[in-house]
Amino acid sequence: MSLKSYDLIVIGSGPGGEVGAIRAAQLGLRVALIEKRAHLGGTCLNVGCIPTKALLESAKFWKKLQNADKHGFSLIKASFRWDDILGNKDKIIETQRKGLKFLMKKNKVDVYQGLGQFRSEHEIDVISTHDGKTETLFGHHILLATGSEVSQIPNIKVDGKVIHTSDTIINIEKVPQSMLIIGGGVIGLEFASLFSSFSSKVTVVEMMDTVLAGEDRDCVNELLRQFKKKSIKVITGTKVLSVEKKENSCEVELSDETRELFDCILVSIGRKPVIQNLCLEEVGLHTKNGFISSNAHYQTNISHIFAIGDIIQTPALAHTASAEAIHAVETIAGKNPRLINYETNPSAIYTFPEVAGIGRTEESLKADGISYQVAQFPFAPIAKAKIEESTEGFIKIIYSQPYKQILGVHIVGAKATELISEFVLGSVLEATLDDIGHAIHPHPTISESIQEAAHSGLGGPIHL
Ligand code: FAD
Repeated sequence: MSLKSYDLIVIGSGPGGEVGAIRAAQLGLRVALIEKRAHLGGTCLNVGCIPTKALLESAKFWKKLQNADKHGFSLIKASFRWDDILGNKDKIIETQRKGLKFLMKKNKVDVYQGLGQFRSEHEIDVISTHDGKTETLFGHHILLATGSEVSQIPNIKVDGKVIHTSDTIINIEKVPQSMLIIGGGVIGLEFASLFSSFSSKVTVVEMMDTVLAGEDRDCVNELLRQFKKKSIKVITGTKVLSVEKKENSCEVELSDETRELFDCILVSIGRKPVIQNLCLEEVGLHTKNGFISSNAHYQTNISHIFAIGDIIQTPALAHTASAEAIHAVETIAGKNPRLINYETNPSAIYTFPEVAGIGRTEESLKADGISYQVAQFPFAPIAKAKIEESTEGFIKIIYSQPYKQILGVHIVGAKATELISEFVLGSVLEATLDDIGHAIHPHPTISESIQEAAHSGLGGPIHL
């Protein structure tokens, strides 16, 4: 019996796989997309970016309602219904899932629901999620986009009731009164912002001596200052020694010799690539440190097999996975795409306040002995920031002399994840501080702070 044959088989339908499948189809390739979950969209849509941002938006809404009186509104009694907040999040996810299904149909991508595994270099077995039957597909090219999963701590057993990971906490039945978050990375701190907004007493414990390692220190310190105001406790340089599960709580022992009872624990110590279910040994694909090895075109040691997203050792971000997927399939289609410059790849953290950055940090420049200057401007003097009650934080531009080339930008503030996009384009176009200072920004907007930050490196800001 002849096998169904495709120009490209994509395994995994996260922001890497789904984008790669659509772009390949647009380029005229015959594409199969294999996904083991019940729904398309991967970690990002089902348990990651989208559910967390939907919940964080509800938290912002709640904060605004609590401030209603200041704006001249009288609410008889403001309260929230957690069930409906979860329901709103689920509706958003469902709409996006439907959208993806429609896009696959529109682009004539054949979707297979099942586990994809190598049978040989060009053959992929799909073990159906529905009936367990195996169908083998032939692919001239294969794009691996199987993403990542939560890392767990061996002696802390996740039960999805009292002890959670990010996969389960997004559906927690009620807001816990107290919560311990193990791990001060991006995901842990976003959940700290979320649950403290709904009045959970949140403690974050981090083993290293800082949270958000790799982010700009001034931004992190400002975030921690704001966390303190919200009574979020952050303990660094401390390990969890033991967790004793009680009926509806956990007693936790920390290496600073304290013991405390929490209603809920979130284990958020990072994620690991999902590659062990692919039967890589059948084809001898090279890996390093648990990641698939690939070159600048995302091609593995087997020239027709490509790998992108969280399974390769580049920043584990949804937009990075999508950009890599587009590059990989354009390479497969014989285009000559531009290489991805990771210096122009932004980070976006949706804490309250948000943190976003691009390019070099002061710390990394110092470590490399590169001289630089800093131009900085706070949001507080900006009228629109006052109107939107977003006066916390600042924009910091790091640049070099004599041409004022921008080396890095770091923003902490309510709109940081939107504002950073100006610098994404700026860095792609190699904009200088002069260019940013010369660009007229609309008034009144929070983006005026960008021009003001540039002015502060060009002879002085206007409104400070
Ligand atoms: P994934 O999205 O992980 O998708 C991989 C898919 O492959 C999965 O659906 C999986 O079921 C499937 N799969 C695996 N093995 C097989 C197999 N053998 N056969 C068939 N299917 C298989 N990033 C951001 O940029 N912004 C954010 O705001 C953000 N927030 C996040 C919040 C949370 C709580 C989490 C957990 C992550 C967040 N991320 C965020 C990270 C982001 O979700 C990931 O970087 C991104 O999803 C990686 O995309 P991917 O396509 O590589 O893999």
